[in-house]
Amino acid sequence: MTNLVFKNGYSYEQKILQMRKDTAYDIGFDSDAQNAGLEAAGKIVCKGKAMTSHKLFLSNSCIFNCAYCGCRCQKEKEYSYTLSPKELAAIAVNEAKIHKQGIFISSAICKNADNTQELISETVKIMRNEFGYGGFIHAKVMPGADPELIHKTGLYADRLSVNIEVAKSIGYQKIAKQKNKQNILEPMKEICEQIQDHSKHNGTFASSQTTQIMAGSTDEDDRTIMRLATALYKKFSLKRVYYSAFTYREQAKGYENEKLPIISTPHWRMARLYQADRLTQLYGFSFDDVTPEHEPFLQKDIDPKAAWALRNMDIFPVEVNKADYDKLIRVPGIGIVYAKRIIEARRYCTVTHDIMKRMKIPMGKCSYFITCNNKFEIADRLYKEDIKSVLASKHTQISIFDLLTNG
Ligand code: SF4
Repeated sequence: MTNLVFKNGYSYEQKILQMRKDTAYDIGFDSDAQNAGLEAAGKIVCKGKAMTSHKLFLSNSCIFNCAYCGCRCQKEKEYSYTLSPKELAAIAVNEAKIHKQGIFISSAICKNADNTQELISETVKIMRNEFGYGGFIHAKVMPGADPELIHKTGLYADRLSVNIEVAKSIGYQKIAKQKNKQNILEPMKEICEQIQDHSKHNGTFASSQTTQIMAGSTDEDDRTIMRLATALYKKFSLKRVYYSAFTYREQAKGYENEKLPIISTPHWRMARLYQADRLTQLYGFSFDDVTPEHEPFLQKDIDPKAAWALRNMDIFPVEVNKADYDKLIRVPGIGIVYAKRIIEARRYCTVTHDIMKRMKIPMGKCSYFITCNNKFEIADRLYKEDIKSVLASKHTQISIFDLLTNG
């Protein structure tokens, strides 16, 4: 098996550095924070445990020509490489030890999808069987890969992913000509079925699947992205959808006729998408709640939960001593953790604003939307526009991690 091969004299560190550059186009489950909010989002994973995975690339030599990707076949590269499974497995196990992280094995499509999938499956098999690696492995599945090869990969990986990439299928023709709905959705379906099948039979197989959507790649609104994400979660039982900021910096060969505009999707949009995603997956919101038809874009200056609350002022204020859990977690500033604390405290006392502060619940946001024992802390009337401007000025820093833990 060949390989190829980093330039003579390439050090171990240079190889890793080159791989990191090549994987910049592939976000899922990694701590590579090219986008605001991504690092925190990448840590929100399995069974509530925070972990990240170290991403490694088998090959940067792609037969596809996606306009946005540095590995595309029509882009001149300083270095091309395709590692042998054994070499990549050795690097992966070593990196896992150094960084005390899981490993994400990804790749460009070298030769063809099946050949690449075979190499990936060999790599993860060697990691397990020859090097005795017992940590987390996320392995990429190539568009259009054979179900048997997906199966072989899943036997040794904990998680599999295929990137759907665009929010509208017309986008494939525009920016990723060799990809299409079919060669992406079929492997997703196959993975979903194999996960379900194996969990039924207590078999050893990957237990989860993720995907990635590039925001801004088809001039779509956030409602389109959230609607697609919701459908994918449901249809393929996804563990996570990742969002990356579509960037197109230079005219790509092979796309002269498309006249694609130079574009760099703003990073704040990713943070808002991750927040909206968590609201739909953990807080019981629908995509229609976070991105209604008349407001299809998420707002830069205000998070999606606060924006939803301001659109639904008639249900506020919520009395914290009476509201059930589902209602409490819809209050801006009160997340899963704080809602549970409030409900626990109610068993022993009437919850007041002071008690909430003693429970370390930040009142800056939620005090506009709650009463404690029928008392407001700030005023006895709520004026939507005033609240909006206060919240916007308070929340110039966007933190997905805050949203997840604190609401
Ligand atoms: S398939 Fe497209 S995005 Fe993936 S490595 Fe190849 S050119 Fe890049």
